[in-house]
Amino acid sequence: MKIAPGSVVSFEYTLYAPDGSIIDASQERPLTYLHGAGHIVPGLERHLVGKEVGDELEAIVPPDEGYGEATGRGFRVGREELPPGMEPQIGMPLGAQGPDGKTMTLFIVELDEESITVTPDHPLAGVTLRFAVAIRAIRAATEDELSHGHAHGHDGHDHSHGH
Ligand SMILES: [Zn+2]
Repeated sequence: MKIAPGSVVSFEYTLYAPDGSIIDASQERPLTYLHGAGHIVPGLERHLVGKEVGDELEAIVPPDEGYGEATGRGFRVGREELPPGMEPQIGMPLGAQGPDGKTMTLFIVELDEESITVTPDHPLAGVTLRFAVAIRAIRAATEDELSHGHAHGHDGHDHSHGH
C-alpha cells in the first residue's frame, strides 16, 4: 500500500535545523496522521506521497512549504485582554480573530508585567526544515476518520466523540 490521500500513516521522524541541530523528533512514538487533511506541513506531505512501509527518506522543506516566511511583525496586547486564568508563556500559540474575520494563530514572543508581545510568525517561519523520516504503518482511513478529517485510535487522535 502506498501513501495517498485518505491513508492513515504512522511515521518516525527527526527534524533538523539548517545548522544540523535537532528541533524535534518522534523518538519512540511514531506520529500518526490522515494524509491529505493538512495535519503536517505541505512540503513533508508532498514528499510522503507514494511511499511504502519501511521506506526511509530525507525531505528538505523550504519555508513556503513549511511554516511560511517570517514577517517580523509583532504587536503588544494588554494582559487584561487575555482570557481569564490564562498563564502566558513564550512560544505559546494563541487563537485570535484576524481583520478578515478568519481565525489565525499568534505566538507569544515577549512578556512583561502589563502586556505580551505576539507575532503571526510561527517559531519555525523562515526556516528550511530537514526531516529524516521512516514509514512505519499505512492503512486506509475509516469513514469516520474521513468525515472527521483526522486519524483515530491509540496511535492517532484520541477523543471521545462529540463531533
Ligand atoms: Zn474524530
